[in-house]
Amino acid sequence: APGAAPGSGAALDAAASHADAVEVLKGYDGPHVRIMEVCGTHTHEIFRQGVRRLLPPAVELISGPGCPVCVTPVGYIDEAVRLALECGCTICTFGDLVRVPGSRLSLADARARGAHVRVVYSPQDGEAYAEAHPEEDVVFLSVGFETTTPSTCIAVRTAAERGVRNFSVLTANKTMPGAYEAMRDSCDLFLYPGHVCAIAGTKVCEDLVAEGVSGVVAGFTARELVCALAVGVTKFREGAPFFVNCYPRVVRPEGSPAARRLVASMMEPCDARWRGIGVIPDSGMRLNEAYRGFDALERHGLAHEEGVEPRGCRCGEVLQGRCTPEGCALFGRACTPEHPVGACMVSSEGACSAFYLYGAAT
Ligand code: SF4
Repeated sequence: APGAAPGSGAALDAAASHADAVEVLKGYDGPHVRIMEVCGTHTHEIFRQGVRRLLPPAVELISGPGCPVCVTPVGYIDEAVRLALECGCTICTFGDLVRVPGSRLSLADARARGAHVRVVYSPQDGEAYAEAHPEEDVVFLSVGFETTTPSTCIAVRTAAERGVRNFSVLTANKTMPGAYEAMRDSCDLFLYPGHVCAIAGTKVCEDLVAEGVSGVVAGFTARELVCALAVGVTKFREGAPFFVNCYPRVVRPEGSPAARRLVASMMEPCDARWRGIGVIPDSGMRLNEAYRGFDALERHGLAHEEGVEPRGCRCGEVLQGRCTPEGCALFGRACTPEHPVGACMVSSEGACSAFYLYGAAT
């Protein structure tokens, strides 16, 4: 147990001294508590590792906006489809985005109509592909949070240094503090995303305590998740706002200053649209003036698309914890992982796919 965690307190020690945080969690008999898993990977790991089975009725887990594919608005898919079909670009993307429905077409649909859509595993793969194929106009789809944005910067910087002029990025990068603000009234405490905090540090979480917002940073193993939840409910019962870092083997208070410096040198904050939440001021990151030539929309003279949400899809409410996936009339009927209607069913981090794969009772 992370008994020496920075920010840890009596509750963490209490959980550790029980020798088994499972008993702390199972035995919770305090007031009803709503815990928002901000991170989509947490949502899936909590299901996959059977942690939900331990929860007493008073502990409610709700899914939040931490799946990067899920919060990427429909208009972004429309922009990627236009780049592919109208501008003839080769799209390099993480696999999850390919089947996310756009207003009319997904990238999979575009590929069926002749578009070049390649699945890559990193922005660097996209840059390397562009370098090896100078005859193609290559666009990397850059979605994600603080965790993945530095990789995009490295790919763009590499392209700039090597004079790779046929590489650009379509950015929908987001930062978490705005989402915490938008979601703070939707839950009693946050299960903060471990990977994001590893880059961003914990200052934002600590500052939110002064505003009455509580939370714990969690890792991803069963033990780390159970310990973080046990600490969270124990501290919640004490009543005062709190923050505890329950993932100290990875998350340092200062995060990764080098990664943040890199991003700050190449990108600037911008307003960003989150699916279901709307526009959150300064919650996005776009390439700054020095690197604007690598922005795919600028390069091809395209405007941002508004996009139209799939009819009947409640992804927006799911992402705000206002609706469980099973509360959507399409769940498991018209919408399945094989035939997804919304992004939350497509993504490997999406709440709807987690509920479908593992079942709410798991
Ligand atoms: Fe959207 Fe499908 Fe989830 Fe319903 S079940 S909210 S349609 S992704």
